[in-house]
Amino acid sequence: MERPLLMIPGPVEVSPAVLRASQAPPPGHMTAAFVTDFSRALRAMRQVWRAGPDDQPFVLAGSGTSAMDFAVCNTLAPGDRFVVVETGYFSLRLAEMGRRRGAEVTVVPAPPGEAPPIELVAETVARVRPKVLGVTHVDTSTGVRTDARALAAVAQQHGALSLFDGVCSTGGEAVDQAAWGADVVLTASQKALGLPVGLALLVMSPAALAARTAMTALPPLSLDAASFLPVMTGYEAEKPTYFATPATTLVTALRVGLDEIVDYGVQERWAAHARAANAIRQALTAMQLTFVPSPGLAANTLSAVWYPPGVGPALIGSVRERGAVIAGGLHPAIKDRYFRVGHMGFVTTEPDLLLRTVVAIAQGLADQGYGVDPDAAVQAAAEALA
Ligand code: PMP
Repeated sequence: MERPLLMIPGPVEVSPAVLRASQAPPPGHMTAAFVTDFSRALRAMRQVWRAGPDDQPFVLAGSGTSAMDFAVCNTLAPGDRFVVVETGYFSLRLAEMGRRRGAEVTVVPAPPGEAPPIELVAETVARVRPKVLGVTHVDTSTGVRTDARALAAVAQQHGALSLFDGVCSTGGEAVDQAAWGADVVLTASQKALGLPVGLALLVMSPAALAARTAMTALPPLSLDAASFLPVMTGYEAEKPTYFATPATTLVTALRVGLDEIVDYGVQERWAAHARAANAIRQALTAMQLTFVPSPGLAANTLSAVWYPPGVGPALIGSVRERGAVIAGGLHPAIKDRYFRVGHMGFVTTEPDLLLRTVVAIAQGLADQGYGVDPDAAVQAAAEALA
């Protein structure tokens, strides 16, 4: 059988050009070609994040979790107040990072599949007066997308910094850092940017950088924005600067991947994710499946889907045998009751791969004894993509 398609919510399938770049011999970090690639990658990040000219991109070796820790410990010091919008597993991770940094954390609660109403967040921010408002733009555990623009405005109104975990959004959902006035938007390489795992990426506003400058309780050296700032400004200006060896192979792949997004069009790429999400969900709806996120909150980068009656986590193995790797549940409260399908990056511009995923899910469901009409599901997806 062909290698099954990787349709989990990260890591994801990558484009042929990104794959080639990822397989090249490791470039030296001071070589001219690498310096050019790093500079181009940093400049392309500004476009993909739609950042302002004074915002600062950072590229670090690490995963999304490292990007979250970097963001937390450069904006919050012990004793600072931190309000976190609950959307699921990853929002609670952000809150835990705040606690470990010694911040006073207030979580604005919401049940699985929901986000707290904006009024409740605004009330809490007005009452608590936090230094930072932390938001998971798309919580990969539930497939819930928050209203990032409105939340950034709430933070701004109350003089708080806004920090967005965009691990499951950046490159796939509307991210508009400058227009939102967002202070930190972070992500990882392996999701909607369409790269292998291994890079932690973030863009910080001047106000976020100023929070780090004012700190007396310094972050660990390997997570310190001040350690990396001269490296980022240096490479962007094509003057290589050393602090910790950059992940050279991945930075080269990043340049290739971001160029692809910019060439395709950043907003066109968001639209491709919206189209892919709609197609997958039309197909799942044709199979009488229903979704974890409340109506209106479903992200374009993944679908979180309730198992139908009589079906459980064994579905994952059946779908893999039929040609697609999907993921089980992640939110502890509902873990064994739903599955997740990622639709991010390269596959969103490849209708054939999306349709193969629909076929694999339909056949997997049939193998699990849930009668579906695969043809009707494929037709629903194909119509949505047409
Ligand atoms: N935040 C979100 C929204 C995520 O989806 C993930 C990964 N699934 C992370 C943070 C953590 O990223 P990583 O697993 O790369 O550390």
